Order: sequence, then C-alpha cells, then structure tokens
Amino acid sequence: MGATGCGKSKLSVDLATSCGVEAEIINSDKMQVYKGLDIATNKITIPERKGVRHHLLGDLDPADGELTAAEFRDAAGAAVSDIASRGKLPVVVGGSNSFIYSLLVDRFHPGSRYDCCFLWIDVAFPVLCDYLCRRVDEMVETGMMEEMAEFYSSESWAGRVGLLKTIGVPELEWYYKMGNFESNKNNRSVYEDAVRKIKENTCRLAERQVGKIVRLKSGGWDLHRVDATDVFRERLRAADEAAAEAAAEEEEEMEVVMAAAAECGSGGARRKSRKKRRRQWAEVWEKEVMDPSVKIVKRFLEE
Ligand code: ATP
Repeated sequence: MGATGCGKSKLSVDLATSCGVEAEIINSDKMQVYKGLDIATNKITIPERKGVRHHLLGDLDPADGELTAAEFRDAAGAAVSDIASRGKLPVVVGGSNSFIYSLLVDRFHPGSRYDCCFLWIDVAFPVLCDYLCRRVDEMVETGMMEEMAEFYSSESWAGRVGLLKTIGVPELEWYYKMGNFESNKNNRSVYEDAVRKIKENTCRLAERQVGKIVRLKSGGWDLHRVDATDVFRERLRAADEAAAEAAAEEEEEMEVVMAAAAECGSGGARRKSRKKRRRQWAEVWEKEVMDPSVKIVKRFLEE
C-alpha cells in the first residue's frame, strides 16, 4: 500500500523475487486494470516485471464501464484463489484503498477474510510531492502527450469510461479535443496550464491516498510502515545533478571548437556518473525499504 509514486510496484516485484517463495502479483489500482494509457496511469513495464506474473493489470476494456469495488472483490478474490491453489503467494499491490478494503473485508464477521501481511511505503509528503511533479515532467518526456493525443483522436474516446478519470484525461480534454487541437497546439500557456493541473491533481491524489491509509491504520489494520523518504531524497538529488550536468553539456555544445573533445572526453565520464547515481539510490532502497520489507514478509510466512 502507499501513495502514487512511492515505489509499490517495484517493491512488489522485489518481494516476489526475494522472499524465497513463488509469488504472483494482483494489481489493485483502479486505473491500471484497463488496457491503454500505460504512461499516464504509470503501469509497471514488462522488463520491470522481471518475469513475475501480474493479474488484473491492463486486462479490462475501458469501454465496458467502470469496475466497481464489488466487481474488483470478485475478480481479485478469484485471482487469490487461483494463485493459492497453485501453491503460490498472492501479492496485492496498488493505490486504490477502497479496492483493497473491498477485497479483504469479511462480509459476515469483522476483520479480514484472508491472513494478510500489510506493508505501507510512506514518504514524507513534501518530498513525495516534489518527486511527483518531476515524474509528471518525465512522463511528458517519455510520451504521455502523444498517448493522450492518440486517446483523443479516437472518435469513441468518450466511451472509454473506465479511463476517463485517469489524471491527465480531464486536464487535457480542452487541449486535445477534436476541433481544439489545431488552434491549441502552438499555445504554450494552455499546454503549461494543463501540465500544472496534472501535477497538482497528482499531489492531491497522493494526499488522499495517505489519508485513507492512516484511517485504516487507526481503525486497527496492522500496517507495517516502511519509510522510503531517504530513497526519494536521493533520487531527487540525483535528478538535480543530472539536470545540472545536462545544462553544462548544453553550454559545452555551444562551444563549437570544444565539441569534439567533449564528445570523447567528458561524455564517458557523465555516463559513468549517471550509473553511479542510480546505484546510490538503489542502495538506499535496498537498505531502507527492500531489506526491512523482506524481513517482515518472511517473518509473517514463518508464523
Ligand atoms: P475512492 O474511495 O474515492 O473511490 P480510491 O482510493 O478507490 O478512491 P483512488 O485509487 O484514490 O481510488 O483513485 C481516485 C482517483 O485518482 C481516480 O478516479 C483517478 O482520477 C485518480 N487515479 C487513481 N489512480 C490513478 C492512476 N494510476 N493514474 C492516474 N490517475 C489515477
């Protein structure tokens, strides 16, 4: 469990590959259950899944309507039974806490219908929000706008109801909607305004998600809180350094005489430092998040 962007998907794969038992993952993010908008909904990529089987991830047609919490309970419950019947461990991961609640709650007795181990990845809110804003920029760089343009280019976009509430869809509707795009595409301010709203709404979603988790914890759910703030501080520091280097690189490129030397000299050093930076935050992740989580899950499995 945890807010959007806190590393839940990564942790679920880390756990599935490091706990000494075979595991499969069930997605509990209400936007990621549908096909499409992979960048905007931030679905874990195939290489990042490391061969671990995922259920309810990009399986549903958004034109079939919004999946209700009760429908999720049935579908995810069937996945839990299927995974368990094959002797494997079901790992539920996603930010939709109403879906998790609906899956677990015992309708006839108080408490959970499963024996669960809860992990909550928590990140100090200002740090998470800073990270989320940069993640939006990265999503834009990796093709979110093209994905949205394609979404809105289909005449039947309004019928893909399952995806209409995805952050990015309402914010970009005015920009991309048929008839508007030709006049909007050169309008920087409409575009920038939409990106700013996407950032604001992403931070708001994170705040709401954490609020719900805190309420579940105070309501008696035995959540193990794992603090990932240092990981995100490290990632932000790495991103700052990379941005400073990119700016320096741009400056260098302007000096035509130095260009060739920059290519074969500092280019190699830069690539190395990028790798080093990645290694640094990966080390903090292992120490602060992954190792404690593996310990918690192993202890739970031994009980
Ligand atoms: P509620 O209890 O109000 O139904 P919830 O916890 O079940 O909330 P959330 O997962 O918090 O649901 O999602 C609420 C809204 O946040 C979605 O309708 C959508 O606008 C946005 N949202 C959630 N997940 C994503 C995602 N992966 N990508 C983009 N937007 C998302």
